[in-house]
Amino acid sequence: MILNIVKYPEPVLSQPGEPITEFNAELKKLAADMFETTYANQGIGLAAPQVGISKRMTVIDLSMGKNPKDKLVLINPEVIEHEGRLYEEEGCLSFPEIKEKVVRAAKVKIRAQDLDGKWFEMEGDQLLARCFQHEIDHLDGTLFIFRMSGLKRDLVLRRIRKLQREGKW
Ligand SMILES: [Zn+2]
Repeated sequence: MILNIVKYPEPVLSQPGEPITEFNAELKKLAADMFETTYANQGIGLAAPQVGISKRMTVIDLSMGKNPKDKLVLINPEVIEHEGRLYEEEGCLSFPEIKEKVVRAAKVKIRAQDLDGKWFEMEGDQLLARCFQHEIDHLDGTLFIFRMSGLKRDLVLRRIRKLQREGKW
């Protein structure tokens, strides 16, 4: 089922998500729906708050549905190590059409639970590292506009307000 993605400034996007404690069929269904929703929107990652669910879960698939091995479900994830810095363009499904450069660690190691509640660690660099950080930020209620310089953020917010006035946001 394709879920509705909420856009900024929906309050759920700015709230820290609740930790997940029950690893049941309902959670598996939510993960499957989140993948379907990500693909339907040509995304590479989606966090539960973006579909209005304030919980600590995100799905990532850099292959956009082409390679089943690339499908990642991260539950209660956290970054445990990071190194380097990269300044690259980033987008977000809750900010359609907005793309801006954001500083992120170049390489990170994360720790997360899978759909059965089993903890695992994983390393990522380049785009995967960026995606881990962007999605985990969502679970803390931190949006990528708050990783931009104040000047850039003001320009983006001004653009959003203009789109809102025109009924296009
Ligand atoms: Zn996002």
